Amino acid sequence: MRMVAGCDVGSLATKAVIMERRRVVAAAIVRSGPKPAASAQAAMDQALAQAGCGLSDIAYCVGTGYGREKISFMNESLSEISCHGKGAQFLVPSARSVIDIGGQDCKVIRLDAKGSLVKFVTNDKCASGTGRFLEVMAKVLNIAVAELGELALKSRDPVTLASMCTVWAQADVIKHINARRPAEDICAGVNAAMANRVAMMANALQLENDICMTGGVAKNKGVVQALGRIMGKRIKEIRQIDPQLVGALGAALFASEKATKN
Ligand code: ADP
Repeated sequence: MRMVAGCDVGSLATKAVIMERRRVVAAAIVRSGPKPAASAQAAMDQALAQAGCGLSDIAYCVGTGYGREKISFMNESLSEISCHGKGAQFLVPSARSVIDIGGQDCKVIRLDAKGSLVKFVTNDKCASGTGRFLEVMAKVLNIAVAELGELALKSRDPVTLASMCTVWAQADVIKHINARRPAEDICAGVNAAMANRVAMMANALQLENDICMTGGVAKNKGVVQALGRIMGKRIKEIRQIDPQLVGALGAALFASEKATKN
């Protein structure tokens, strides 16, 4: 059997995964540019180079993410909800709930024992509870978004942000910076505000164990920990691959099923 691929064109990052016999052989994450077609090509080229093959070696490719319709080399496109559910269940077979937090939306998904979708809720109307919220706050704090989580874990006295709204929370963060509150306490407050917003959505679905987090924000240990604490549940960490790749992985798994069928 030849290789298959999944490509997830997100608002902030584009991801590609190449699989052979349901094993990941290459993966790439690139920053999304203004043209989804070019971002998809860049991510795929990187993954192909890593796998040491060309597009003609890919038997089937499934596209997902907000820019999926623009992917020139895909055979089919599928929703991010299906792909994140598929990828999460492949990595954690006991997963019944998936919380995917990406750059500009957040999805809470419930699965049955076979990994099929039962219910979902999504927030794509507001930046709060999304990676964008964290990006804005990291910029104000003059740190990289990747530092937010680790710094927050050092906090002993987290600040409380008065609002979950990105605009008001930003003003609040500036107020705390001017009051010379330590950066780790402000980071912890930012992560908690984010987690509170997501927990409100998650609680509406009455999530069942095991809960997995996918998407780029799953790399922020501060948010993962705060979310588990607020929801009173343990969140299972995805260890086998970068959690930001789970949507592309799910797409590649669907591609693998199609290639086998064909
Ligand atoms: P999208 O699919 O919408 O582009 P992603 O799932 O790729 O979104 O996630 C992007 C978000 O992931 C960013 O907004 C950022 O908050 C977060 N992120 C990316 N890399 C890291 C990292 N190394 N550590 C913590 N958070 C990260």
